[in-house]
Amino acid sequence: MKGGCFCGVVRYALLSTPYDTGWCHCRICQRTSGAPAVVFTTVPKGDLVFEQGRDSLRSIATTSFGRRQFCGECGTLLTIQVDFQADEIDITAATLDAPSGVAPGFHIFFADRVSWNEPGDALPRFDSWRPDTRGLPVS
Ligand SMILES: [Zn+2]
Ligand SMILES: [Zn+2]
Repeated sequence: MKGGCFCGVVRYALLSTPYDTGWCHCRICQRTSGAPAVVFTTVPKGDLVFEQGRDSLRSIATTSFGRRQFCGECGTLLTIQVDFQADEIDITAATLDAPSGVAPGFHIFFADRVSWNEPGDALPRFDSWRPDTRGLPVS
């Protein structure tokens, strides 16, 4: 699967089939995307390869344990990585060239949901992280 940012400067390829696709409704996703929720999908870190535009990638620490990457030219949010799962990286699913190739399986941080964003699905909803999240920081 391939994908990239809005302006086309940053292009990436996923070398394996992504997994753990899901909606995140947290406030950080809302603020960094401008949308009420963001769908992420996951690959092992080495399986995300930036084929173009690596120099235009910008990165911001959005929590004490996580960073997000975005295109410095057009601002498209591309990835999130958390220290407690350093061997994996999450990609914003809508930046895939064929986003329908993945399908969300859950909602997280549903407690932060914007009231007018009522999902029309029957997927499991979690107020914060999924309870089985690997390596979760104690907060
Ligand atoms: Zn761009
Ligand atoms: Zn989020």
